[in-house]
Amino acid sequence: MEYLATTWATLTVVALALFAGGATLMLLRQRDRIVRQAAELAGDVEALNDRLWVLADSEEHYRSLIEAQGDLIVRRDGARIVYANAAYAALLGLDEAQVVGSLAQPQCIACRPALALEGGARVFDECVATPEGERWISWVETVVPVALGQSVLQRVGRDITARIAAEQNLVEARARAESANEAKSRFLATVSHEFRTPLNGILGMADLLGDTGLDPEQATYVRALRTSGEALLGLVDDILDFAKVEAGKLELAQDRFDLGLLLETVSELMAPRAQAKGIELAAHLSPDMPSHFVGDRDRLRQILLNLVGNAIKFTDRGGVGIRVAREGDAVDIEVADTGPGIPEDRREAIFEEFEQADDSSARRHEGTGLGLAIVRRLVGLMDGSVWVESRAGGGSVFRVRLPLPVAADTAPQALPEWTGKQVLVVSAAPFGADFLRESISAAGGSATQAADAAKAQALLSSGTAYDAVLIDQDIGRDGAVGLAQAARLAGVRESLIMLSPLERRQFGSPREAGFTGFLVKPVRARSLYQRLSPRPASAAPVEAQGELQSSILRPRLTVLVAEDNEINALLATRTLERFGCAAIWARDGRRALAAVAEGFAGTGPAFDLVLLDIRMPELDGLAVARAVRELEQSRPRSPRLPLIAVSANVAEGDRAAALAAGMDDCLAKPLDRAALQRWLERIAAPRPIDRSA
Ligand code: ADP
Repeated sequence: MEYLATTWATLTVVALALFAGGATLMLLRQRDRIVRQAAELAGDVEALNDRLWVLADSEEHYRSLIEAQGDLIVRRDGARIVYANAAYAALLGLDEAQVVGSLAQPQCIACRPALALEGGARVFDECVATPEGERWISWVETVVPVALGQSVLQRVGRDITARIAAEQNLVEARARAESANEAKSRFLATVSHEFRTPLNGILGMADLLGDTGLDPEQATYVRALRTSGEALLGLVDDILDFAKVEAGKLELAQDRFDLGLLLETVSELMAPRAQAKGIELAAHLSPDMPSHFVGDRDRLRQILLNLVGNAIKFTDRGGVGIRVAREGDAVDIEVADTGPGIPEDRREAIFEEFEQADDSSARRHEGTGLGLAIVRRLVGLMDGSVWVESRAGGGSVFRVRLPLPVAADTAPQALPEWTGKQVLVVSAAPFGADFLRESISAAGGSATQAADAAKAQALLSSGTAYDAVLIDQDIGRDGAVGLAQAARLAGVRESLIMLSPLERRQFGSPREAGFTGFLVKPVRARSLYQRLSPRPASAAPVEAQGELQSSILRPRLTVLVAEDNEINALLATRTLERFGCAAIWARDGRRALAAVAEGFAGTGPAFDLVLLDIRMPELDGLAVARAVRELEQSRPRSPRLPLIAVSANVAEGDRAAALAAGMDDCLAKPLDRAALQRWLERIAAPRPIDRSA
């Protein structure tokens, strides 16, 4: 029994111990879990804290960035400010705390129209009053969602006061510059007109003096006088032109003109300069192109004269070649020379005003440095381009490409049929010989070139049956004469000597020297074709390089000269008298009109022509013309009196004004004798007046 009790007790103790142990174990386990969870929680809290730090940091970062930008930021719910940054508050002269919750608005002084951007934003500039004065702010306004279904209006602004001020300065500066430029152009136009009038007198008087019996020495002085006067006139024209192109005042004509003829005029005008330097000047119009185009002939002539003038000026040996060809729809003009060339790094600059290729002051040469600037502007006005390259073999090539339309009723030049024709060209000229070869091959013939007499002799005896030999006098007279003889012996039908106009006068008879004829340099393709093609017996003489004849006109014409400048008047009346006219002078517009009226009434001399200076005191030329046309209304059966405006102002606008006033033509001062003579001849021949002349 005792044993049982003991065992029971023991069992109870054991059971209790076991139970207690199990509970403790559970408790321990639970405690561990709680400890673990607490640790995890602490970790999470720390991570959250870290994230909060980062957020605060980044908010601070962005806030300071925004503040540093100086941008103004404001958000409104309706009119109430729900957020504003310090910069916005400062615009109102307050601080952030005072602004948030208020209805504060800066006072608007001016506002520019708003621009709606994609996405619903609006952009506008506003001038506002601030404690620091007026400021221009450029705003971007957007609607920003803030909570579900709620949004606020946000404006972000930037101070653009400095930019607006700069813009205004620029506008004012441009206006000032434009008015200064206009004043400059007006000044230049006036001054150059004032220059032209006395210069015209000097040149005209030199002309008249040249026609009196002078001894050779005096004649030289008179020529020098003319040359200097012309140079001065050229300079005045350059400056005037430049001012006009600069001010956008230059109007381009759109007339039909003969490009071939223009090329000839230019080479004839420049030939004396080339001859004086002993260099070649050759011109060539590609034979496969039409000759008539539509454009501004006078401006194109000016471009050519500038480029050719430069080429001659800078070339001391060799020569200058002008070649005009068609390139697609454009006309390509090439002015090449064998001069010093232009360093690569100056090829752009020389087209700027007052620039020369060698800009070291010690080496500066005569010239304004305006020529190429004018060329570039004129070419630009014509929608073309101009540039310079170096020429293979030395020198420069100026190229001009112009989009000139071909005149409607023009065909390519007529070419002779020279297939099988063999021509020997004996010349060392750098350009002329090539141009001749081109003309010969364009007609289907074949050309061989020899640079000197010996080479030509060798070719003549080589067995080739040449049809013609063209010999440049520049290879030397004896050599040329010898070759002509050799050619005749070799059975060549034509041997022509090529002479400059000056050489032509000194050469004597080409036939007596053994040639079958001559060609005048620069040789035109047309002359070559005429001379070497079989001709009908009555063919006109080749190269009639006629000089202006002062013809005696029948019937004797009576011309009224209305001109306020005494010297110009003297010049015009003397010139008219030389043409066989009776000239009567009126010193102002009023007197001129009175003289015409008397003529009409039969109480004074009747006039066949009136020259009217445009600028005159009392009545100007245009007013006189209008009044004369009005007087004519009452004499319907009498012929219209030809009226010609004479103007130192050569602008296209003046010509148009003169024609509009009822004049028949407008001649530039100095009075162009040839143009005047054409008018006198036309009036003397009883034909109706052609106003398109
Ligand atoms: P200017 O001849 O009056 O100095 P331009 O504008 O006509 O002015 O020419 C500018 C410069 O370009 C010249 O001074 C010269 O240095 C250079 N130049 C022009 N044409 C030629 C040429 N054909 N050969 C060499 N240099 C030239």
